[in-house]
Amino acid sequence: MKSYRKELWFDIEKRRELINITSFVNDCLKESKIKEGMCLVNAMHITASVFINDDESGLHQDIEEWLEKLAPELPHSRYKHNTYEDNGDAHLKRTIMGREVVVAITEGKLDFGPWEQIFYGEFDGKRRKRLLVKIIGE
Ligand code: ZN
Repeated sequence: MKSYRKELWFDIEKRRELINITSFVNDCLKESKIKEGMCLVNAMHITASVFINDDESGLHQDIEEWLEKLAPELPHSRYKHNTYEDNGDAHLKRTIMGREVVVAITEGKLDFGPWEQIFYGEFDGKRRKRLLVKIIGE
């Protein structure tokens, strides 16, 4: 069995941002030379998510508004976590949106359903962040 590991770094300028990382993961898959197996992609921060959904701007606004309703950023004082930090909302948003995705690899390709794209969701940005791609198979 072959095994491949890569960290991808991002400079996140805003506090919250969604980035389509599908092409990065495809590049990793090509580099791995694995044709059949599994690909794991996970955020390496507890205030960020990796998830799969549609690359459609209306949906991205809906996700932002929905998360703000469930875990509003302000006021910072509403979160017990915010004693030395102000990212209580970001921890909750990450919990809702999940840590990782696993995608099957078939005939050298990410075996997606229709419209599936992989996103990195940042909820406490304004700094360098990273994610992990791990691919195993033959
Ligand atoms: Zn925190």
